[in-house]
Amino acid sequence: MAYQHLNRQGEALPLPVGKVVCVGRNYVAHAQELGNDIPAQPLLFIKPSTALVNLERGFQLPHGQGECQHECEISLLIGQPLKNADMASAAQAIAGISLGLDLTLREIQTQLRQAGQPWERAKAFDGACPMGRFIDPSCFSNCQNLTLALYVNGQLRQQGSSEQMIFSIVDLLVDISHVFSLQPGDIVMTGTPAGVAALHNGDKLELVLSDEQQQWRWQSYVGTP
Ligand code: ZN
Repeated sequence: MAYQHLNRQGEALPLPVGKVVCVGRNYVAHAQELGNDIPAQPLLFIKPSTALVNLERGFQLPHGQGECQHECEISLLIGQPLKNADMASAAQAIAGISLGLDLTLREIQTQLRQAGQPWERAKAFDGACPMGRFIDPSCFSNCQNLTLALYVNGQLRQQGSSEQMIFSIVDLLVDISHVFSLQPGDIVMTGTPAGVAALHNGDKLELVLSDEQQQWRWQSYVGTP
């Protein structure tokens, strides 16, 4: 089934499916766990629209390409064009907030990095971006103070807060919009906290996003249920 942006009720949102702009190393502890420096400006890369799959329908891992790791990330659906945006227009352009997975073939990524090559073979393959249903931004009391967590088979793997981000959600949108245009239907993934690890067929996932007042949960699984 082709990917569509969905709202919390599972209804299709009236936005096209665009590119996914991803941010690397936006949490200090995750940069350190992979032995990377703290970036002076956001580290950006793009997944094509063909990487997107709806998280709640489950997803497949690539075969025979080494470890495929989860990176659970706060994800923003863009509802209005952004080019050279200021902070106010960037904040207003957020049409939905969700959690998504930046799936990464870690061994291949390490080989590519060592060879000085781009990451697309490790991060942009079909299905590399399972994306949850989007929550309306008006549901949040404070978009700058969100906590995310990923449980795999009931065990906590990743946990972080948007307060630990090196570049805040709005700062990221402003910076990205000065590099390339964001269009309605694009998604921005804001980086992953520490705890990335391999996924396996049969894993059951629960992703949890909280603000000061509420909690939202998404369920998914690897392979066929
Ligand atoms: Zn990532």
